[in-house]
Amino acid sequence: MARIRIEGLGKVFGATRAVDDVSLDVADGDFLVLLGPSGCGKTTLLRMIAGLIQPSTGRILVEDRDITYLPPRERDVAMVFQSYALYPHLSVERNIGFPLRAARRPKAEIATRVREVAGQLELDGLLGRRPRELSGGQRQRVALGRALVRDPRAFLMDEPLSNLDAKLRTATRTELTALHRRLGSTFVYVTHDQVEAMTMATRIALLDGGRLEQVGTPTEVYDQPASVFVAGFLGAPPMNLLPATVAGRDGQVVLTAGGVDISLWPGGADSTEVTLGIRPEHLRVLPAGAPAPAARGRLTGTVTGIENLGSEEVGWLGVGTGDAASAAVAVRGPRPLGLAIGDRVTLIVAPEHVHLFSRDSGRRLT
Ligand code: ATP
Repeated sequence: MARIRIEGLGKVFGATRAVDDVSLDVADGDFLVLLGPSGCGKTTLLRMIAGLIQPSTGRILVEDRDITYLPPRERDVAMVFQSYALYPHLSVERNIGFPLRAARRPKAEIATRVREVAGQLELDGLLGRRPRELSGGQRQRVALGRALVRDPRAFLMDEPLSNLDAKLRTATRTELTALHRRLGSTFVYVTHDQVEAMTMATRIALLDGGRLEQVGTPTEVYDQPASVFVAGFLGAPPMNLLPATVAGRDGQVVLTAGGVDISLWPGGADSTEVTLGIRPEHLRVLPAGAPAPAARGRLTGTVTGIENLGSEEVGWLGVGTGDAASAAVAVRGPRPLGLAIGDRVTLIVAPEHVHLFSRDSGRRLT
C-alpha cells in the first residue's frame, strides 16, 4: 500500500525542461494515468518515481518517507517497461522469480511465490518456456509477473500495451483493471493513448510541455477540461474550439463567432475575447426546414466530409469565423446523421454544453 506525494518535481536536460514544477498526490490504491503527447515528460516523471532518473528539483515521498535520492531497489516500487525487458535465455519461471533470487530469498519461498503469481496471471502452463516462445500478450504478463512477485508498494508502468495489437490491447486493458482491483495497490501508468487513460484510470494527470495541466477522474477531465489543451487532447474527434466574442445584449450574455450568435450563456465573463468549446457529440443537426428551438446555440456551415465509424458517424463542417478562413467543426452522433457533402446545415447546442476558455491564458473561465 502506498501513497505517493510529488512536490515541485523538475528535471532539466541541458536546455530542455522535461518536467517543470510538478506537484501531484497519488492516493493509496489509485490507478493514476500520466497522459499527454509525445515529449510532454511522462516517462521522465515516471522514471524519477522509480529512481532511474535523479530530479533537478523537488521531492518524492512514499507514505511520509522521502525517497527522492534512494536507489531504485530500496524504493519498494516495481517498474514494468514498454519493451518488457525479459531475459531471453531464462524460462518464464526464472524470469518471474528473478527479483526474489536477486534478493536471495529461500528457494522454497521463491517456488511458492512464482506459482502463486503465475496462477494469478494464468501463466501456469507456460513456466518452462523462453520469452521467444510466447505471444506479445503472454510476454507482457510475464513482465507483470516479475513486478508482482516482489509484492511492491506500487507498480509503475511505461506504455506496457504499446507492443500489442489492437484486439489484445483491449483485452489486456480489462485484465489490468481487474488486476488493479484485485491487488488494491497503487498504479502509476504512462500512456499517450486517451482510450487507455479513460478506461483504466481512477484519476488522470494531463501533462503538456513538462507542466501539469489538470488532475481529475476521467469524467472530470472530460466534462470539465481545465484548459484549451485538455479540451483539445481528449475526445475523438476532440472538442471543437472556436474564437468567439462575449457581449451583453438585452440583459443576456451572447456569444458570437464569425458574426453568428452561437449561444446565450448564463454566466458572466471576465474577458470578451474567448475560445468557445463544444464537444462533437453535443451538437445536433437541425433537420432542413425545422425551426431552431429557443435557448439553443446555433452554428451554420457547409458539410465538407463524413466519416463512418460503424455505429456512429462524424460530419465535418466548414464554419465561417469572420475572417477568410473557415473553422472545421465536427459533429458526432448515431449513423446516419443525415448529411451530404456540400449541404448547408445548421447545428444546435444546449447552452450547458458550451465551454469557455480565456483566449489569453487558455484556462477555463467557468
Ligand atoms: P513519449 O511519449 O514520446 O515517450 P514522454 O512524454 O514520455 O514522451 P519524455 O521521454 O519524458 O517524454 O521526454 C520529455 C522531454 O525531455 C523531451 O523533450 C525529450 O526529448 C527530453 N529528454 C528525455 N530524456 C532526455 C535525455 N536523457 N537527454 C536529453 N533530453 C531528454
